[in-house]
Amino acid sequence: MPLPVLMQLREDLLDLKGTGIGILEHSHRQPTYDRVLAEAVESCRVLGEVPDDFEILFVSGGATNQMALIPLNLLPDGGVADYPDTEVWSAKAIVEGRDAVPSATIAVPFEGKKFRYDHVPAVGEMTPTAGAAYMHYCSNNTVHGTRFHTPPIAAAGVPLVCDASSEIFGRPIDWSKHAMVYAAAQKHLGVAAMSLVIARRDLIRNPVRRLPSMFSYWSHATLESRINTPPTFAIHTAGLMFRWMISEGGAREFERRNDAKAALIYEIIDGSGGFYRGLSRPECRSPINISFRLQSEALDKRFIDEATRAELDGLAGHRDAGGIRASLYNAMPLEGAQALASFMRDFMRKNG
Ligand SMILES: *Cc1c(COP(=O)(O)O)cnc(C)c1O
Repeated sequence: MPLPVLMQLREDLLDLKGTGIGILEHSHRQPTYDRVLAEAVESCRVLGEVPDDFEILFVSGGATNQMALIPLNLLPDGGVADYPDTEVWSAKAIVEGRDAVPSATIAVPFEGKKFRYDHVPAVGEMTPTAGAAYMHYCSNNTVHGTRFHTPPIAAAGVPLVCDASSEIFGRPIDWSKHAMVYAAAQKHLGVAAMSLVIARRDLIRNPVRRLPSMFSYWSHATLESRINTPPTFAIHTAGLMFRWMISEGGAREFERRNDAKAALIYEIIDGSGGFYRGLSRPECRSPINISFRLQSEALDKRFIDEATRAELDGLAGHRDAGGIRASLYNAMPLEGAQALASFMRDFMRKNG
C-alpha cells in the first residue's frame, strides 16, 4: 500500500472529512458516505476510462465469489460458457462455475495444464464455442506469471468477461473488447474480501434466472452497491487508491513503471545462462508476477532464505507452481525491483 493512502486512512479512521466521526462509524445512508461512494465511483471511472454504459460496482466477497455470481447471472440452464484454462485461478473459476450452474456446460477451449501453464493461447490456438453465453478468462496469471498481451478472441458476438485481479489498472483496459472486468481488491485496491466489478449494463440487466438480491449484479447496480450494509471501509480505501493512481499518472504510467521494473528482473534471468529459469514463455511473460526457478529445490530454498534475511520478503512461489515468484504490484516502487535485481546478481555470483 502506498504510504500517502495509509496516512489518509489513519486520519479518516478518526475523523472523516471533518465530521469528527470516523469512516467505520458513519452510516452508509448518510450524506458523508454518499460522498465517499460517489468519489470512489467517479475516480474509478476516470482512472479506468470506463465508458458510460458500464456500471461500476463494489461487491462484498473476493474474486472467488464472483466466479460463482458470474455464471449465476449470465449462464442459463443448458447453456455453454467458454473458460480457457491458463492457471490455478482460471481453473478455480471452472470448478466454481460448474458448481454454480450444474445444468450448464463450462467448455474449456484451451487446456494450459498440458503445457504446465507456460503460456496463454496464441491467436488460433483455441476454437471458441459459437453461441456461448460468454467467455471468461484471466488476463494476468498470478501464479505462473503469464499474461494475455491482447485479450483472447471469443466467438462472434460472445461477451468477454475478465478476471484482472492481479493487474487491475496496471495497464489501460480495452473496453471495446470486454463486457465485464472484475478484480478482488486486496492486490491493487486495498482491503481483502471485496471485489470491483465493472460490467456493461446490457449484460447484467436481465439475469438469466431469478436470484436473491445479493447474488444479482443488477440489484447491486440499481441499489448503488448498498443493498445491505456495504463494506464501507473497503470502498473508501479503493476510492483513495484510485485517486492515488490518478495522481501518479494513471494506468499508462503504471504500465510504463511495471514494464521498467520487470525488465530489470527478466534481464537477469535471460542473461544468467540458465542459472535462473523463467516458468513462462518469453512472448507471454507477465510484468507483474515474475516466476522462476533455480537448478534445484535446495537452491530455491537457499535463495528464498537469504533473500528474506536481506529483507526481501514474500518471494516463495505459490504452492501450485513452486520456485520463486516476485510480485511487482503497482504500488511497488522501482527501488524494490532494483534491490531484488542486485540480490539476484550477488546470489548468482556466489552460487553460480
Ligand atoms: C489473487 C487472485 C484471486 C483471489 O481471489 P480471492 O477470492 O479474492 O482470494 C483471484 N483471481 C486472480 C487472478 C488473483 O490473482
